[in-house]
Amino acid sequence: MPLHRGADRAAGMPRSERDELRRLSINPFYGEADPTSEMTSAPPMHRLPDGPTPPDTAYQLVHDELMLDGNSRLNLATFVTTWMEPQATALMTECRDKNMIDKDEYPRTAELERRCVAMLADLWNAPDPATTVGCSTTGSSEACMLAGMALKRRWAGRNAARYPATARPNLVMGVNVQVCWDKFCNFWEVESRQVPMEGDRFHLDPQAAAELCDENTIGVVAVLGSTFDGSYEPVAELCAALDALQERTGLDIPVHVDGASGAMVAPFLDEDLVWDFRLPRVSSINTSGHKYGLVYPGVGWALWRSPAELPEELVFRVNYLGGDMPTFALNFSRPGAQVVAQYYTFLRLGRDGYRAVQQTARDIAGKLAGRIEELGDFRLLTRGNELPVFAFTTAPGVTAFDVFDVSRRLRERGWLVPAYTFPAHREDLSVLRVVCRNGFSADLATLLVADLKGVLPELREQEHPLGRDKSAATAFHH
Ligand SMILES: *Cc1c(COP(=O)(O)O)cnc(C)c1O
Repeated sequence: MPLHRGADRAAGMPRSERDELRRLSINPFYGEADPTSEMTSAPPMHRLPDGPTPPDTAYQLVHDELMLDGNSRLNLATFVTTWMEPQATALMTECRDKNMIDKDEYPRTAELERRCVAMLADLWNAPDPATTVGCSTTGSSEACMLAGMALKRRWAGRNAARYPATARPNLVMGVNVQVCWDKFCNFWEVESRQVPMEGDRFHLDPQAAAELCDENTIGVVAVLGSTFDGSYEPVAELCAALDALQERTGLDIPVHVDGASGAMVAPFLDEDLVWDFRLPRVSSINTSGHKYGLVYPGVGWALWRSPAELPEELVFRVNYLGGDMPTFALNFSRPGAQVVAQYYTFLRLGRDGYRAVQQTARDIAGKLAGRIEELGDFRLLTRGNELPVFAFTTAPGVTAFDVFDVSRRLRERGWLVPAYTFPAHREDLSVLRVVCRNGFSADLATLLVADLKGVLPELREQEHPLGRDKSAATAFHH
């Protein structure tokens, strides 16, 4: 499917006739007052209407069309928050007109952003939270672009003599990285060096990553945790492998941790896991405030260990109370409501609250994984004991149906459970993945198991997998 474009041109048809074909239909009962006189015109779909539509009618038209979107709470494909408290919604409504870039006009919103960065610096064990630098973004993708840019600029600074000549920078990562890293490498002209999957290893291997590094490597990305199966990548082992590399070769390669999900799970549930700024080689970390940060989309965060990690020339300055406020962002205008909601959620939950919420999600993931395993038709790849996320495939003897059939049949019952094929070298493996988020309760998990049980007898009766168009059966799994 191409990128959004204009309306289809029906060949040879005059424009007025084409427009007649593509109009929103109006129910006379949707009119403001008198059903027989109000609704005389149906607005076109792909052209700005000539005149206005009454607000109630316009609302109803848009509302009705959106009924066909899936129910976000039943969307087990997404990592993104689909439930918040009414108080958070109220705050977001109060702030929906505030532009995050207007630091001078909205100094308190700017202050709340600063407090959030300080809290994250503390949470991620920055050696000196007072000098840790960071910013909010629209999500982890923007945060990763910023972190990648900082890595590239630092490398370019160190290689000022070689870079303009022939040296081409590269970034090392596992093949399981989220698509934002492919985007970063494409947009910023960096070679992407990816460690493939191997056997039952579905994420980065520290040794293999170190072997891909050379004098043009701007950094290594470690993912906490992988969107493919919810597993944490071994950040400490990666740093150790890069320490050994430095001893052997002198190459000093920084690590960026893409903690889109895990940076808001591990600090509460895996306190002994050392993955963050406690590791001197970890130079920057990002997270999605709108994933396990528990805020509606879109907010993300990027933090650097110290100002030395973020080249000064990348930082711009905006007016703030008559002075200078540094900003680092791809966007200019951006909603302030999500940042306010993040601060609310930090205040509301505190460490113990986050721990309780994330532990509940992980308990539900573990139990659900176990119950799916007990059905006998499936084999678990992960059990939801790192991110509250697990992946499973059909058991070895199952030949009547495949994961795409399961995904399609669950969709009939309202559940969105994506099925997808793994990347190099495990393209032979297709899985289903379940993301357990706050709001996906133990009761809903029980209903999911009941629905899965309900579709299995028919699936087992199939002569073979239906082999439907796999791209159609598959929800976007990142
Ligand atoms: C979701 C995700 C991203 C992208 O984050 P957005 O907040 O959706 O932009 C990047 N990396 C990982 C590991 C992710 O899970």
